[in-house]
Amino acid sequence: MKIICIGRNYAKHIEELQNEKPENPVVFLKPDSAILAKNQPFFIPPFSNNVHFEVEVLVKINKVGKYIQEKFAHKYYDEIGLGIDFTARDIQDASREKGLPWEKAKAFDGSAAMSEFFPKENFGDLNNLEFKLFKNNELVQDGNTNAMLWKIDELIAYVSQYFTLKKGDVIFTGTPAGVGKVHENDVLTGTIQNKEMFSVKIK
Ligand code: MG
Repeated sequence: MKIICIGRNYAKHIEELQNEKPENPVVFLKPDSAILAKNQPFFIPPFSNNVHFEVEVLVKINKVGKYIQEKFAHKYYDEIGLGIDFTARDIQDASREKGLPWEKAKAFDGSAAMSEFFPKENFGDLNNLEFKLFKNNELVQDGNTNAMLWKIDELIAYVSQYFTLKKGDVIFTGTPAGVGKVHENDVLTGTIQNKEMFSVKIK
């Protein structure tokens, strides 16, 4: 399986990182070795002094598809989850300055924390999905998919032009504002519509 991630999909997060608003979705990949299973601890890697959390809604692809039209995109996923796109911001900033790829900053082991997945019907309108991240019980990210620049079905149509989607692939749909640094012993808890989806301890 592969993990397809979307960057800069929420305007307020673009502002907080002082990035430009993209003309098209920003897309990058993580390998399956990046997966951090539900409630496993996250170990801060030794090569970074500034790992950030980015809470994101996850979409699990249910069948193979290429050049999927937006109007049919909903047929390619049944399940939704929540995850964290852990990002070594210091490495990413250095890569960005030099115009180099992001993998060392974004695709390292444990960088793709994932909850369990639940049927999308459980959540109602996926374009109005409230999700939150708490750090040590304090609210740090408060998102709603209604603020996405590109909605889930648009993202599927876009990325499937480049990558054949396969059953089991996961899309990280981008993070809202409020990203920040993790520290040892932090506990990150994610919710969708106030239902707890995961709790990750930082080590
Ligand atoms: Mg992200």
